[in-house]
Amino acid sequence: MADAIFIADLHLTPERPDIFRAFVSFMKTTAQTTQQLYILGDLFDYWVGDDAMEAFHKKVIHQMKSYSDSPLNSLYFMPGNRDFSLGKEFIRLSGAQWINDPSVIYLNHQAILLMHGDLLCREDTRYLRYRKIIRNPLVVKLLHLTPVQWRRKLGKKIRQQSHQDKQKKSQSIMDVTPEAVIENMKHHHVQTLIHGHTHRPAIHEISLTDNNTSAKRYVLGDWNKNGWYLEASHQDLTLKCFNI
Ligand code: MN
Repeated sequence: MADAIFIADLHLTPERPDIFRAFVSFMKTTAQTTQQLYILGDLFDYWVGDDAMEAFHKKVIHQMKSYSDSPLNSLYFMPGNRDFSLGKEFIRLSGAQWINDPSVIYLNHQAILLMHGDLLCREDTRYLRYRKIIRNPLVVKLLHLTPVQWRRKLGKKIRQQSHQDKQKKSQSIMDVTPEAVIENMKHHHVQTLIHGHTHRPAIHEISLTDNNTSAKRYVLGDWNKNGWYLEASHQDLTLKCFNI
């Protein structure tokens, strides 16, 4: 058994049934080898509101519920930039436990910082400004008062815009800012950070200069041609990849 498994950036959407099938098989096989499964954001490609759930979303939730229903299993969900508006109804139906971004967990007495990753991309000021507005509680409340159809249209527009922006943004803007990584790790007193978002799966060694301890940053990959997960077992974290 693995101590924990971490996934992020599946970007599940009805338009990619192959990724959905990979998720179902992952939940039935790999996920069954651990009692702690962490989803670190962007499970869905978009989420317009718990009141706008369609058959596809319910099928995903059903898979989560089958896992979380087992009394020994814990399923954790941290919101990403695409699905931050997942709400109480989603949490209730999926049986997942909501964890904030960032969160610190302990595995074998080792502190690990978990983040989605968007907060680490500090050079992307345009996105960070948008993030602040769209997550303002008042804005969230107002959006939920608008009709589902309107929200779907707005969501589509935002995704198109973000896609266009991505073509223009430089590679460095879309990656994490090294200072942000160090600041966050120091602030939370950890030597291990796990995040997704950048779609650049890798394990980076970092030196947290003043105490000269070597730290590690584990970046989960997105699910597209391959699926990615990070497995914690025997005091080790291993990044694993499979074909979709
Ligand atoms: Mn993301």
